[in-house]
Amino acid sequence: MSISVKNISKLYGKQKALDNISLEVKTGEIVGLLGPNGAGKSTMMKIITCFIPPTSGDVFVNDFDIYEQAIEVRKCIGYLPENNPLYLEMYVREYLSFIAGIHKLGKKTSSQIDKMIEMCGLELEYKKKIGALSKGYRQRVGLAQALIHDPDVLILDEPTSGLDPNQLLEIRSLIKNIGKEKTIMLSTHIMQEVEAICDRAIIINNGKIVADDFTKNLSKIHSGKEIISVEFDADISENKLREIDEISSLKKVNKNTWIIETKSGKDIRSDIFEFAVKNNIKVLSMNKETKSIEEIFQQLTGK
Ligand code: ADP
Ligand code: MG
Repeated sequence: MSISVKNISKLYGKQKALDNISLEVKTGEIVGLLGPNGAGKSTMMKIITCFIPPTSGDVFVNDFDIYEQAIEVRKCIGYLPENNPLYLEMYVREYLSFIAGIHKLGKKTSSQIDKMIEMCGLELEYKKKIGALSKGYRQRVGLAQALIHDPDVLILDEPTSGLDPNQLLEIRSLIKNIGKEKTIMLSTHIMQEVEAICDRAIIINNGKIVADDFTKNLSKIHSGKEIISVEFDADISENKLREIDEISSLKKVNKNTWIIETKSGKDIRSDIFEFAVKNNIKVLSMNKETKSIEEIFQQLTGK
């Protein structure tokens, strides 16, 4: 397990920013920490990277304990903090060399810097001052500094915030590429971002986990309900339709078409079909409505 978070809580004074959170990230996974502003994403990341201690709970990164082995934890993590703090007066190469010095890369410094410049697409920019770069290129510099010591785990706090649509796509694809070789946890408040980059999403709200699932499964979360729209070839009464088990609500949208919501999330399409056969009615169309990932996010976080 690359990251193992066990029952973490964090209090800022009386305010609970994280409330008994547990999660695990497997080696090689790209996990999105998703939540509205103030959910606790940055706090979680600062704890994992040993920047601040939790109030209670345990965290292990590559089996190293954040309390007892903080230096080892930091060695195996690359961290891009929120708002990507950089020294704007430094030249790109100078800055990367400074970061390499912090990591004591020694003889490897020059070759690692060259590798980062290539990997992060900085070939045309590395002679410039960081302050002269566009936001997208500053973000690349931020990724380069996070990767320079070749860490196993990358923690990226809102890596695409404030980028224009083109830069956004470029940085997303760069992160996806890097993710082929690293374990990544990134935070965002944008659902589509998680869909575009991550294998798994952990949705947090008010310091608590409200969903943790593979991105492809997220659209199945409907607070336990399944929604089916069905068109029959005849006008059926609501009472008759209620003969089908598990229906929680029914809405007639036009003469022969109904929106059916089920109680337990059970897929009752075959029951509807059998009901039609039994009553000598034809089913002209039947669709399972999937909620957009955006709707699910709003439903889970109440924003
Ligand atoms: P996110 O990154 O999801 O936007 P944060 O982890 O930054 O959320 O913040 C979670 C909550 O903790 C917020 O309500 C925020 O105001 C509060 N908070 C964060 N950092 C501090 C701090 N250093 N002191 C006091 N409160 C803080
Ligand atoms: Mg944040």
